[in-house]
Amino acid sequence: MEKSGLVRYWRSSGMIRDERVLDAFMKVKREQFVLKEYVDSAYADIALPIIEGQTISQPTTVMIMTQALEVKEGMKVLEVGAGSGYQAALLSNLIGARGKVYTTEIVHGLVEFAKRNLRGYKNVEVIESDGSLGLKGPAPFDRIIVTAAAPCVPQELTKQLKNGGILVIPVGDLHMQNILKIKKKNNKSHTTENLGNFMFVPLKGKGGFS
Ligand code: SAH
Repeated sequence: MEKSGLVRYWRSSGMIRDERVLDAFMKVKREQFVLKEYVDSAYADIALPIIEGQTISQPTTVMIMTQALEVKEGMKVLEVGAGSGYQAALLSNLIGARGKVYTTEIVHGLVEFAKRNLRGYKNVEVIESDGSLGLKGPAPFDRIIVTAAAPCVPQELTKQLKNGGILVIPVGDLHMQNILKIKKKNNKSHTTENLGNFMFVPLKGKGGFS
């Protein structure tokens, strides 16, 4: 499948709601974030294995989550689960030079993998840490995106979200999760949308599956 094929599919299914997200998708080369043996499948609409038993998420899932996040220029964004770094690269395009993406990764090998893939993305920092605890130093964040399946919404993440901020996170059991869009207002966070059923690799660490 070609990149243009995916875009045609998204257009015909009416799922493009934010042209800026599509622009970012057009700019970032997904083939630079997949393993060599999968380069030919870089624009197939499937999750692909990376290393350490993890995956780069399916393009349609990434589009749905990124649009739900409503990222604007200059924002400070936290990602939990850097993986290949692909999601962070899209966010990097959306926030521009004045913004900053902090992407956390708990598996050492993947920290190295993401750093390598994200060379040249100056507004992205890859941090080896348990992202289920958020990231105290740079908090609070305008946006938080979790790209691994969580058993429930980690408290630290809603704590580290600014008022008016948005958190997008897959919540459920190990087999199926709902991607929730959560907004914080007057220091209270509430789910505003359920984006449907998906399957992610499990979140580890304090707020994850033990
Ligand atoms: N966003 C990635 C896909 C991530 S797959 C991409 O665009 O390629 C989910 C990732 O979350 C895996 O790499 C896994 O190691 C990582 N992960 C799991 N639990 C974590 C935690 N508590 N903190 C940070 N990263 C975590």
